[in-house]
Amino acid sequence: MRHYAFFILSLILISCNQKTGPSSTDTSRSKTTQLPEPKTNEFALVIHGGAGTIKKENMTPELELQYREKLSEAIKAGHEILKNGGDAMDAVETSIRIMEDSPLFNSGKGAVFTHDGINSLDASFMDGKTLNAGAVAGVTTVKNPISLARKVMTDSEHVLLSGAGADEFAKSLSYDNIELVDNSYFFTENRYQSLQRVLAKEKENDRKTAFLELEDPFIKDSKYGTVGCVALDKNGNIAAGTSTGGMTNKKYGRIGDSPIIGSGTYANNATCGVSSTGHGEYFIRAQVAYDISALMEYGGKTLEEATEEVIQKKLVDLGGTGGIVALDYLGNISMEFNTEGMYRAMMDDQGTLTVGMYKE
Ligand code: ASP
Repeated sequence: MRHYAFFILSLILISCNQKTGPSSTDTSRSKTTQLPEPKTNEFALVIHGGAGTIKKENMTPELELQYREKLSEAIKAGHEILKNGGDAMDAVETSIRIMEDSPLFNSGKGAVFTHDGINSLDASFMDGKTLNAGAVAGVTTVKNPISLARKVMTDSEHVLLSGAGADEFAKSLSYDNIELVDNSYFFTENRYQSLQRVLAKEKENDRKTAFLELEDPFIKDSKYGTVGCVALDKNGNIAAGTSTGGMTNKKYGRIGDSPIIGSGTYANNATCGVSSTGHGEYFIRAQVAYDISALMEYGGKTLEEATEEVIQKKLVDLGGTGGIVALDYLGNISMEFNTEGMYRAMMDDQGTLTVGMYKE
């Protein structure tokens, strides 16, 4: 009898909770309990092309121009979508695909090589309105992994697909934007030479364990080259995505932070969107992208405070290097990094474009 009474009481409590608790699919802030906050930007977009030892003295003017032009092209394409009232998710996918198709970045064409001399790609995508997400790890035949990550989100019941299974999922899709290629498509001489240098170093040191390197073949001593994008559209929706080849000489099926929701990518309309680049192992341990959102959600921090705390303090204390780009629900933008530089660009609702590479 007592069990029965307890059961009835539980049912009443659950149904009350369902009526008053927050909806699990709508992350919009309650407009009735809060005064409207002034927006910095009605819509905005921010991208990165990796962080690392990016120094002016190691860069040629021609190469600097190439980076600036490609970053500008990528961000303008996404911005055009937002300006015309388009969706944040479309803007993110469009901007990232342009960087994936460029050999300048460690994603898509231009991805780094694994220990076995192939290119194995990771990507993730998140919708801040529904908190839906999709990701792929270790795909070898998909020209634009960011589009496949989005399809995992929309066309499967899963969040993260890996290896041969993820390639098979790609094959099962009949969309124009999921183009399959031979793995040799991703070959670039510079990245291949990077692998040879790391293999030689590994041999020299007689290392038995995995020796990873995030070497940018274009610039001496440079590091990461992952690409990422965060967008806020006119409807207040935030989306984020990240795409990478990972780390040169990765082996044993190593997966970094980029396809991990909460580490490499996170988006929530109630707080912010984040895309990371850096030494993945540390970004996973620090849960960088989600931690920034959580500091805003539970700690009452602004985007600027949250990104600074995670990148300049938490990550540094752990020994991790890299950076993030982020955008909050008010259109504030952050591009925070603890390395010498980060390829980055942002565009506000006035169309003002800022492109950066070094600490400045
Ligand atoms: N975060 C990526 C990884 O660890 C590398 C990068 O950002 O370039 O796989």
